[in-house]
Amino acid sequence: MPETIETDYLIIGAGAVGMSFADTMLTESDADIVMVDRRHAPGGHWVDAYPFVRLHQPSAFYGVSSTSLGADRIDERGSNAGYFELASGAEVAAYFERVMRERFLPSGRVKYLPMHDAEEKGKLEVDATPLLGGGAARIRVRKRIVDSTFFDTAIPVTHERKFEVAEGVECIAPNELPRRAPAHAEYVILGGGKTAMDAGVWLIENGADPGKITWARPRDSWLINRETTQPTTRFFNQSVGGMALQMEAIKAATSVDDLFDRLEAAGLMLRIDPSIRPEMFHFATISIGEVDLLKKIERVVRGAHVAKIEPRRMVLSTGEEVEIGDGALCVDCTASAVAKRPPQSIFEDGRITLQMTRLPNPTFSAALAAYVETHYTDDAERNRLCVPVPLPDMPEDWPAATLGNMTNQLAWSQEQDLRAWITDCRLDGFGKTVRDADRSDPDVADVLARLKVAAMPAAMNLQKLIGAEA
Ligand SMILES: Cc1cc2nc3c(=O)[nH]c(=O)nc-3n(C[C@H](O)[C@H](O)[C@H](O)COP(=O)(O)OP(=O)(O)OC[C@H]3O[C@@H](n4cnc5c(N)ncnc54)[C@H](O)[C@@H]3O)c2cc1C
Repeated sequence: MPETIETDYLIIGAGAVGMSFADTMLTESDADIVMVDRRHAPGGHWVDAYPFVRLHQPSAFYGVSSTSLGADRIDERGSNAGYFELASGAEVAAYFERVMRERFLPSGRVKYLPMHDAEEKGKLEVDATPLLGGGAARIRVRKRIVDSTFFDTAIPVTHERKFEVAEGVECIAPNELPRRAPAHAEYVILGGGKTAMDAGVWLIENGADPGKITWARPRDSWLINRETTQPTTRFFNQSVGGMALQMEAIKAATSVDDLFDRLEAAGLMLRIDPSIRPEMFHFATISIGEVDLLKKIERVVRGAHVAKIEPRRMVLSTGEEVEIGDGALCVDCTASAVAKRPPQSIFEDGRITLQMTRLPNPTFSAALAAYVETHYTDDAERNRLCVPVPLPDMPEDWPAATLGNMTNQLAWSQEQDLRAWITDCRLDGFGKTVRDADRSDPDVADVLARLKVAAMPAAMNLQKLIGAEA
């Protein structure tokens, strides 16, 4: 007979999103929880992260709400100097392990099943099958199944490559780069996203000659200037001042291209090559120092995906061939990171499908869903407060994502208790900055006034920009 476990909430996935939801449930309710994950440790993709990955954004507002990540230090060296520290992948994985070991399990309310596959067997029933053998446990759920796997995060070390690699070519995931790079004199970076940027920065910071790097980057990306994502009043001008500049840019924009030009002119958006108009936007966040390093890579192959790598050449999806160095080390950074799926209702009968209600803050969004689950009684009301914001792929998607963020923010601001919870939530980046700012300072008052004046016209103009041609 398979073991039967009963629980209030069964969370599929113990990645950052599942962990953040569970953490707020523990604080805000007396529910018990079962967490099932195929991986051997909590933290999701961070458990398999490449060794030089860091958060794009300050550690100060990533992870779970109850437990600080990092020590809120300001980095003194490197390309993030002057800004709040960014946890390394190893730190993020160790953090989630600690949250599980020191908070979740001692609470006596969380049962954690690592190395188990969860399969839904009907409403409120899930089988958790151990990956190394043995019978499945049947889990009967009293309240909801919580699916934290909606984003289906793909990383190079576990994804399926969409290009061929001929014999004799060394093509590795970035996880192996530090170990394999010293044996090579030339490098090919494949992919245009943040992982590819991290690989480029790592190579150059460690002494690789940028002239010996080829970067197959099908699309260029608009990038968020990390300076504008810094919390606390110390960075009020950059973060809240940046929001005022953003609202003013949106208000005045006549097209999506014009909008991005204005955001760039205001120092909010960056791009690696100013002569190329980016066709991608995934909320990648980067410092000006990192962009300056990446500008040194001049051999960029654009406009097509790599279909095949052979010794001394790459064949593109267009059939074009590009020469590469004999024995070049190819670094596969082509995993899609998050899956693009149409959003769905977060709260349904017996189910919660966690998605982002504030982009790009997956852990804040999960914590907010847990708060709304415990403090509201009606699913229609819960869904009104937790409208999923569609993930952008291209600059043209930015207006809908930004309007989604603004609409949710407005709905939250009208709920007194929810508003207070958000401001106290560690994962909320800027509410505390606004609350703690010295309003008697004329510069602070000016920024807040500009923000207020521009917000409504900006929201109206976003509606015009949605669906507009670039
Ligand atoms: C390299 C990289 C850097 C990033 N940096 C940032 C950043 O700085 N800031 C930021 O906000 N976001 C960042 N992100 C986005 C990132 O996706 C989220 O922050 C977050 O880690 C995603 O967590 P998740 O729980 O949704 O997904 P995952 O980490 O993928 O976790 C989901 C878990 O569910 C498990 N699972 C799936 N299906 C099943 C099943 N059927 N049964 C059992 N278990 C299952 C998987 O094993 C996995 O462990 C980054 C992403 C990548 C790839």
